[in-house]
Amino acid sequence: MSKKPECVKVVVRCRPLNQKETSDGHERVVEMDVKRGVIEVKNPKGAESEPRKKFTFDSVYNWNSKQRDLYDETFYDLVDSVLQGFNGTIFAYGQTGTGKTHTMQGSKASKEEWGVIPNSFEQIFQHISQSQNQQYLVRASYLEIYQEEIRDLLSKDQTKRLELKERTDTGVYVKDLSSFVTKSVKEIEHVMNVGNNNRSVGATNMNLHSSRSHAIFIVTIECSEEGADGENHIRVGKLNMVDLAGSERQSKTGATGERLKEATKINLSLSTLGNVISALVDGKSTHIPYRDSKLTRLLQDSLGGNARTVMVANIGPASYNYDETLTTLRYANRAKNI
Ligand code: ADP
Ligand code: MG
Repeated sequence: MSKKPECVKVVVRCRPLNQKETSDGHERVVEMDVKRGVIEVKNPKGAESEPRKKFTFDSVYNWNSKQRDLYDETFYDLVDSVLQGFNGTIFAYGQTGTGKTHTMQGSKASKEEWGVIPNSFEQIFQHISQSQNQQYLVRASYLEIYQEEIRDLLSKDQTKRLELKERTDTGVYVKDLSSFVTKSVKEIEHVMNVGNNNRSVGATNMNLHSSRSHAIFIVTIECSEEGADGENHIRVGKLNMVDLAGSERQSKTGATGERLKEATKINLSLSTLGNVISALVDGKSTHIPYRDSKLTRLLQDSLGGNARTVMVANIGPASYNYDETLTTLRYANRAKNI
């Protein structure tokens, strides 16, 4: 019997200890049983006898996981469903430095290091090149949400802020957002590179900026096919790939003034996302709070309903990440199908 695809899937990925952590003698406090989907976290300040905090997920990926395995097991079907005309959203969640961008973009150095976004490009255009009776139109957009303001990462004017609008027929959309028709992997990669370069424009500290903003790459796939009735039928699927702002609690950083305001907004959109997803998986909620943040409003038609969502919760293995790691696992746990 085939299992019905779940509308929301949560997987956890833990990066390796890095060189600095190893040379500084940091201990790994995370243990993973990949086969059983179990994660155990040891309190570094606790007694040896203190029980580990234990979590179970659909899939967990440890420090030895390969980009390609994660893609094939976790994202391939979602991208395939977008090619069939459904909407899908992929989120990378987690504390800054735990591997969100590594998961979404990866490295261009070698194909083994490609993240979700380049792998999806390859899957999409491979599918199209093998299709016989369908005509496809692929368009790409790239935007950023920073302090609840939307910036078009593909626009010539990077000072412009865009607005969310709503139409009764097509739902919520970003007014004046650029979108480029792309006919090959090369062309869509070019669009992505332009957006990535623009992302750092105006940012005095790129790391800080990327840890405080959400980047959303949107691929819209239109497929037209002649039906048995001799008429052309059009299906449209949308794939949203989201590199979320860092989930670290900002209060700890002693932020004040502008920084604190910024932090409050980041936390608002991440907590709203958590509320939306847990209301969706709960299935009993009559109210899904999409309207509480720009991010969830924008993604409303790609979260719930016939749409599929995968969230990758990224964690760090080191003892000093203990608190944030637990916070991330609890967040991910709420988003899980029970
Ligand atoms: P984030 O986007 O969450 O802030 P990054 O993706 O930039 O984090 O990752 C931080 C660093 O850790 C980068 O140098 C990245 O290459 C490395 N890294 C992250 N995840 C992995 C992984 N699974 N395997 C190897 N290196 C990783
Ligand atoms: Mg990043």
